[in-house]
Amino acid sequence: MKIQPIRGTHDIFGTELKKFNFIKKIVDNSAADLGFNEIITPIFESSDLFKKPLGEHSDVVLKEMYTFQDKNDSSLTLRPEYTTPIIRAAISNNLLIKLPAKLYGLGPMFRRERPQKGRYRQFHQMNFEIFGTEDVFADAELIFLANKILDSIIPNNQFKLFINSLGDRDTLKKFKSELSSYFEQYISDISLENKEKIKTNPIRILDSKNSKDIEISKEAPNISDFYSKNSKAKFEEVKQLLNNLNIPYEIDVNLVRGLDYYCDTVFEFKNENLGSQNTLIGGGRYDGLIKVIGGADIPGVGWAGGIERLMLSVDKIKNNLSKIHLIIVEESLKEYSLRLLKDLNKNNVSVYCDYRYNLKKALSFASEQKARFAIILGQEELDQKKYTLKDLLDSSQKMLSYEELLKKINLWEILKIN
Ligand code: AMP
Repeated sequence: MKIQPIRGTHDIFGTELKKFNFIKKIVDNSAADLGFNEIITPIFESSDLFKKPLGEHSDVVLKEMYTFQDKNDSSLTLRPEYTTPIIRAAISNNLLIKLPAKLYGLGPMFRRERPQKGRYRQFHQMNFEIFGTEDVFADAELIFLANKILDSIIPNNQFKLFINSLGDRDTLKKFKSELSSYFEQYISDISLENKEKIKTNPIRILDSKNSKDIEISKEAPNISDFYSKNSKAKFEEVKQLLNNLNIPYEIDVNLVRGLDYYCDTVFEFKNENLGSQNTLIGGGRYDGLIKVIGGADIPGVGWAGGIERLMLSVDKIKNNLSKIHLIIVEESLKEYSLRLLKDLNKNNVSVYCDYRYNLKKALSFASEQKARFAIILGQEELDQKKYTLKDLLDSSQKMLSYEELLKKINLWEILKIN
């Protein structure tokens, strides 16, 4: 029986895993730079956590959630996004007492989408959230953080920030109703998949990828005509703060984001070299969401970034394979070799143990792996209580005591030559 991987899932190993870990390190360091605390939550939650907050008419809820009945008949869902689980966890664990609270997490998400390059059914997201402040300082801080992370990962600034404001709840209500009436006039031309949204979720038609929908959307009402005074001022301030940070951006009036909970500032970072799946990071404000999930009426703002999309943007990754191969020539030397391995590790020297007991094969494998040194252990070395150190650059070799061996390796580590 040959079991295949599930469609839309992927195993991460080798160079790809190195890219993943490289990104995770940058994420953790950047979070620490700005005082965000990490949180890890379960990958499945009660289905209620997602249905209403994400929007009953959102694509995620309608088509993409992995929902199943548990044995006791409760409905569970593999998390399709991380903002709502982090809010749920913050409420469950009383983390919203001292505000603002700054949390971040990184882990797998699940959406039953059509798989393609950069789009999976199980993928990883990093999420950053600030709870408990209306101050757009938080919006700017989060955009700064996203920009900083992307800057460390993607060479030559190959990414671009797009921003928009959705206004407050009233703005959105009025805008949605105007938009419905507008699209209603073109009901026969709107794409089949979006016809239904004219009534239920007209905002989503604005970021349709269908060429006819795009054409019709060009003349659609503009959300900026519906802003309240307060929302207008907030958006101006966000722009001002970004100018001050020297973060370039473009305003995209059709940027509306896929989930229902957003208001005021929304933003996306894109890498335009990535084809259709080019959004790296997306986020915005979600005042009102925490209350919907059962917490106090406190505002929030955050963003999510796809790790696999970022991995596509990482050019080269440093090879951190061990530079030192320990080649054991005879089976009888297992104990002697393991003691050496233990001592070297204790002195922070990493080694790759080759116990094929075949010097020729082991040396050619070490060269293939671009190792720098081979420590060779044979009967002669055991008899003399010494170790042969072979320099794989010039093929010279010498028998050394343990102290001499360590000194030579340490010197090479310090000088970091070759
Ligand atoms: P969203 O929660 O839809 O705003 O997504 C935030 C980010 O997660 C996107 O910008 C992508 O980088 C990433 N992402 C979303 N869906 C997928 C997917 N199916 N596969 C891989 N990455 C994804």
